[in-house]
Amino acid sequence: MAMRVVVLGAGFGGLELATTVAARCGTEVDLTLVDRSEGFVFGFSKLDVMFDRTSPDRVLHRYADLADRGYRFVPATVTAIDPERKRVETTGGTFDADILVVALGADLDPAATPGLTAGGHEFYTVAGAFAARDVLRNFAGGRVVVAVTSTPFKCPPAPSETALLMHEYLTARGLRDGSDISLVMPLGTPIPPSPEASAAVLAAFEERGIHWYPERLVRALDPATRKALLSDDSELPYDLFLGVPAHRVPEVVAAAGMTVDGWIPVDPLTLETRFPGVYAVGDVTSVGTPKAGVFAEGQAAVAAERIIATIRGDEPRTHYDGRGICYLEFGHDRVAKVDVTFRSGERPVGGLEGPSTDLAADKSDFGAERIARWFGREWTPVQ
Ligand SMILES: Cc1cc2nc3c(=O)[nH]c(=O)nc-3n(C[C@H](O)[C@H](O)[C@H](O)COP(=O)(O)OP(=O)(O)OC[C@H]3O[C@@H](n4cnc5c(N)ncnc54)[C@H](O)[C@@H]3O)c2cc1C
Repeated sequence: MAMRVVVLGAGFGGLELATTVAARCGTEVDLTLVDRSEGFVFGFSKLDVMFDRTSPDRVLHRYADLADRGYRFVPATVTAIDPERKRVETTGGTFDADILVVALGADLDPAATPGLTAGGHEFYTVAGAFAARDVLRNFAGGRVVVAVTSTPFKCPPAPSETALLMHEYLTARGLRDGSDISLVMPLGTPIPPSPEASAAVLAAFEERGIHWYPERLVRALDPATRKALLSDDSELPYDLFLGVPAHRVPEVVAAAGMTVDGWIPVDPLTLETRFPGVYAVGDVTSVGTPKAGVFAEGQAAVAAERIIATIRGDEPRTHYDGRGICYLEFGHDRVAKVDVTFRSGERPVGGLEGPSTDLAADKSDFGAERIARWFGREWTPVQ
């Protein structure tokens, strides 16, 4: 009988894992992939939409188009996970697994920051980023604050990219002279594992007159006075506030009793949870890498190899190396590439390539390759 693999979440991690295992195992596996969303959207596409470089429709990869991928896609919400029995309840039925993979990502909670929904905007959810496009279209210039409200947060370079792209956007519309851009970040440097990348980003901020507030969070907004209240008790007045909201595991994961200190602990080499036959990959874990798609994908690739070995009756030998390549938007069609490695118990390291227009093409290929692999169709991130 084919081994039953159930994958929860069709994001970066779930799509990579389901695609790899189904393609390599054929009829040896009975694979089910469950997701509640309409489709997949790359994190970087959220910025592309927000800054009007493409349209929402172009960046949404609909799950309804996932035909003939060698697995069953179930459009449903996961409502209960029993990791001991490897049984999952969803709005589309109950599924029993021989191997269960939790790839449900991080949920975002704008309401956790007082005043954020009433007095500002978040740009990390798909809906928030798409809505921010219209907010920006109607913005006449003024004081812009881009800020992180809690840790951990996905894609640590994204707020810095947002500040740099904001500079490009306002300049192109003739609004930059009447505007001020500030960035509030909990980190001491923009890209902590790469001093070289951090220096390049800080130099770009300096050149563009972007104000950098490190080692701080925005705790609350006062919508009446339009002031952001920072963790060091200082205040920043704003006309436009773009915030990174609080992150947490999806409610169903918390209720399953799989978390410790808010996230699912896994073996950093194998991605196995403490429940036999249950893996977790990506943002939902506390594996020790930043929460980013490239790391979710790398973890999924390792979990996939181990699952394939198990299905074939072999000893799983593949181990996760904590490596990932991040692209960094500098604006004006220039992109840098940071190659980072996060190994458990070691200081993370990363080098810098670029920024250059060649690397903008490299980033575009990165997106196109994944959509070809996961959805079997051609796509370019920005036309
Ligand atoms: C603005 C921005 C820019 C970014 N840029 C980059 C970048 O350039 N490079 C990079 O590597 N990363 C980037 N990221 C981060 C990246 O998007 C995430 O880290 C990545 O998607 C995590 O992958 P994942 O598989 O763990 O989770 P996700 O991709 O978030 O997937 C989780 C899936 O689970 C589903 N789900 C959740 N709960 C349920 C439920 N109860 N029932 C059913 N389905 C459920 C969701 O619908 C979702 O599809 C960016 C993020 C943002 C916000």
